[in-house]
Amino acid sequence: MSVESPLTTDEMQEVLSDSLLNDTHVDETSTDEIQTGRSGRKAIAHPVPSRLRDRFPNGMNWTNFTWMLVMHSGAVAALWHFSWTGLAICAVLHFVTACLGVTLGYHRLLTHGSFKVPKPVEYFFSVCGMLSAEGSPIFWVATHRKHHVLSDLPGDPHSPNEGFWWSHILWFKPRVLKSEEEALFARWAPDLWKDPWHRVFDRIFPVFTILLGIGLFVAGEAIKPGFGWSLALWGVCMRAVLCYHSTWFVNSATHIWGYRNYETTDRSRNLWWVALASYGEGWHNNHHAHQRLARHGHRWWEIDVTWMVIRTLQILGIATNVQDRIPEQTK
Ligand SMILES: [Zn+2]
Ligand SMILES: [Zn+2]
Repeated sequence: MSVESPLTTDEMQEVLSDSLLNDTHVDETSTDEIQTGRSGRKAIAHPVPSRLRDRFPNGMNWTNFTWMLVMHSGAVAALWHFSWTGLAICAVLHFVTACLGVTLGYHRLLTHGSFKVPKPVEYFFSVCGMLSAEGSPIFWVATHRKHHVLSDLPGDPHSPNEGFWWSHILWFKPRVLKSEEEALFARWAPDLWKDPWHRVFDRIFPVFTILLGIGLFVAGEAIKPGFGWSLALWGVCMRAVLCYHSTWFVNSATHIWGYRNYETTDRSRNLWWVALASYGEGWHNNHHAHQRLARHGHRWWEIDVTWMVIRTLQILGIATNVQDRIPEQTK
């Protein structure tokens, strides 16, 4: 498959297929690196990472670096501007952006087509996702589909083989040329690339977060001088940083630690604390084994908040074509 050509109908079908357990793209030798640990579970082997310098062929993405520095500094500063109102706004916006936006919208709806909603509702979830400041929908979807097809292999955007910190936070720090980015989008997310709204979203997505921050600051200052900092720092910086790390732990921790319900050809794991922090995304081995399922918790105790929201939308008639079949062996 060339880098430039968009996914064909058959390839798209594969990306959106129910299971990649027998993914023919996977080099069989990669499974040899998975060894049995003392617990009897499959333990992960850590290949020698490539040189860090080689992973930055075009240098550093200073925009991403600066943005993350500002957000994390803001989250630390928020500790000196605590208010109960700020904390409540942080909690509500965390749910709206990380759950409705990223896990439900970007991931299960747009990336995997786990269910369908009317177009205006899809765009609403896209706006929620953009408020997470994790990139545009098209960037997120293209990157994640590539991760699924090349999981833990060369070309995986955030392979744990390159070390924990690479898979957690460093993978989006290299500078990517515009032509490379457009090739990524056209190949891995041709459905969104064709949608003029998603192309607009890709150009303007940071504006949503900046306007939210300004709005919270102005509203807080109108209530009481100095209060604006509390609302803006907790509603944007602290909330975004918590969302970032919950998403990043899915890329890093759940490809390193945890247990497996399925013997997939990648290193995905189920990890309860990531599942709690990310509204169900931590049941990552279940997801890699049956990626199109809207429900990521397959055992009764694998709590999946995002699935509860999707189920509610289904009962209300908003979500249709919901992929909710749980594999026989895990019932
Ligand atoms: Zn994964
Ligand atoms: Zn996925």
